[in-house]
This record gives sequence, structure tokens and C-alpha cells, in this order.
Amino acid sequence: MDKINVAVLGATGMVGQRFIQLLENHPFFELNELAASERSAGKKYSHAARWYLEGNIPDRIKDMEVKLIDPEKLKADIVFSALPSGVAREIEPRFAEAGFMVCSNAGAYRMGEDIPLLIPEVNPEHIDMIEVQQDSRGWDGAIITNPNCSTVMITLPFKPIYDSFGISRVFISTMQALSGAGYNGVPSMAIVDNLIPFIKGEEDKVETEVLKILGKFNGSSIEFADIKLSAHCNRVGVIDGHTETVSLETQEKVDIEEIKKALRDFTGEPQRLRLPTAPEKPIIVREEQDRPQPRLDRDALGGMAVTVGRVRKDPILDVKFVALGHNTIRGAAGASVLNAELLVNKKKV
Ligand code: NAP
Repeated sequence: MDKINVAVLGATGMVGQRFIQLLENHPFFELNELAASERSAGKKYSHAARWYLEGNIPDRIKDMEVKLIDPEKLKADIVFSALPSGVAREIEPRFAEAGFMVCSNAGAYRMGEDIPLLIPEVNPEHIDMIEVQQDSRGWDGAIITNPNCSTVMITLPFKPIYDSFGISRVFISTMQALSGAGYNGVPSMAIVDNLIPFIKGEEDKVETEVLKILGKFNGSSIEFADIKLSAHCNRVGVIDGHTETVSLETQEKVDIEEIKKALRDFTGEPQRLRLPTAPEKPIIVREEQDRPQPRLDRDALGGMAVTVGRVRKDPILDVKFVALGHNTIRGAAGASVLNAELLVNKKKV
């Protein structure tokens, strides 16, 4: 198949760099446009970006010129957006209106009534909201979003539990990595020897996004899942990898071994379709009493698997466990690339 031309908006940032890494030698996509703010536009990528990932900037990318974020100046069919939310709010609709498929990481449109908020293993059928969106907005392109980085890590394990046993109430406490706040996000003096029990807007995102993703698409809108959910979000001094402790109440009383089996056996549409970025298994269940841990488990299956451990009985609700995943891969750029692969497979682009 001919490769599809793609661009990355916000290419110099933490998530933008992950996009560059994941799109290198991609079988469906050819990355041929990089864009960022006026600060970076006109410079070679290697001069504009402070590369923070392991390994070097790919040779093909380092001399590429960073452009301004302008739909008239970029040539691509899909744009991956790693823009701050406020910037995304203004810019993404201009791209969609101009006919681009926008795969966005930003929070700006995730909860929009006609905007798919996708985890391809969980709600691939929500992709059909694209037609609703294009009809209602008169766009040739569309905006497709992936969830907040904390939402992905828990919604993946919720899916098999929700489908098999129902979920009625949930408590979540997150321990979120520094890269989740971007390179200049949290000063070292604020986080070394410390943790910060507040991440602006994060608890609200987790508490609402899960319900939309687990909701039912009725052909015109989403009927949200009926789950009561409470989240505490904390920033900790880990570079990559969000860890989340979860306690939940199931609708049907269930044995812990049945929960583990449902998690272990779970696969979704990306696995069936063998999409290039899909991990062989989206959920890994570990039995050691001290796993998962960020340094040991965040890179599992290329950073695209969520690792679940310490699955045990909860004395107040029914079951509790720990979930961990790579926030800039499964929680951001990898999630968006997987969404785009689904778009291609479903012939939406
Ligand atoms: P970041 O490191 O701060 O990078 C921001 C990028 O946006 C840079 O390329 C920057 O370009 C560009 N930018 C900033 N202001 C701009 C403007 N006014 N006009 C055009 N471009 C502008 O942020 P990040 O962590 O990569 O996050 C990007 C987005 O992904 C955010 O919406 C974030 O909430 C979301 N997200 C992040 C994660 C994560 O784990 N980090 C996970 C899920 C979702 P310059 O370098 O030229 O300034």
C-alpha cells in the first residue's frame, strides 16, 4: 500500500518526540511535516527541539524544517496533534474543516458530543461518530481523540471486568510521572524529596472520560456508562509511567481468579486486525507481590501494554489492583497512532 502522509503538530514537545520515534519506519505512515510554535518555526528540527528520548533524533528528521501550524502550509492527510489544550482548541477545528483527519492528544475536544474518544481495544465502534461529526459540522476532515494518560491505564482493565461482571463504584488514586506535565511542567525543586497531591483538571478528566469510553454509541450519540467514580490524582518523582491503585465494586459477585482470567484473556479489535502498533496483549497480569513498578514495567510490549498486579479482595468494595502504563506511549503518542491505524483499517481516511 502507498504510505499516507502525516504531520505532527507540537513536534518539539514531550509527546511530539514520541510521535517522531513511533512513526519512524511505520508501515502505513510517512512523517513528512513537523510543526510547532513561532519559537521553533523556520529552524531545523535538531535546533528547535531539546531531544529527551533515548537514542538520537532519526537522521531523516534532524534537518527537517519545523513549520508554523497552518493548514494551508502543511501537506498531509492525517495530523497528529500534541499541542497544549488551549492551542488545540483554536487550531484543530481549522485542520478538520480543511479536510485533515486530526488525531489529537489534547483535552480540548475529548468530551465533545460528536467527537470520538477512542481506545481501539475498548470502543472501536465509536469511530462511526466521525460521520455524525462531519454531518453536523460540515467538515470534510474530523477530530478523533485519545484519552488523558491516566484514563487509558484504568479503562483498559475496566473493559473486560465491566463486560463480564458489571462495575458500579470505583476509587482510583494515581501516581503520575513528570513527563505527563511536559518538559517544563514541574520544576525539580518542587518534586525532588516530595510529591504533589494536585494536578489541575486531572480528576475531573478521569472521572468523566471513563464513562464516555465505556458508554454505548446509539448511532447518533453516546449513552454514558452508569458508574460512580472518584479519583485522587498525584504527581510523583518518576520520569515515565503512571501507576494507579484501584478499588472497585462489581455488579455481580465474583471470585478474584475470575477477574484475573478476564484480564488475562482480554484482547480487542487491534489485536484481531494485527494493527502495527497493537501490543500482542493489551493487559499483562503479574503475580509478584511488588509489581508493577514504573522502571520495570512501563516499557512492556513496546510501552503499549498496561501491566496489572496485586489483584486481590477489597474489604470495602469487591476487588483492588494496581495498574501501570507508559504515559507518553500508551497514554499519548502510541494511543494516537493506534487510533490512526484503526482509521486506515476502517477506511475513514
Ligand atoms: P510540551 O512538552 O509542553 O510540548 C508542547 C508542544 O506544543 C511543543 O511542540 C510546542 O512548541 C507546541 N506549542 C506550545 N505552544 C504553542 C503555540 N502557541 N502554538 C503552536 N505550538 C505551540 O507538552 P506535551 O507534554 O508534549 O503535551 C502535549 C499535549 O498532549 C497536551 O495537550 C497534553 O495535555 C497532552 N498529553 C500529554 C501527555 C503526556 O504524558 N505528556 C499524555 C496525554 C496527553 P515549541 O517547542 O515551539 O514551544
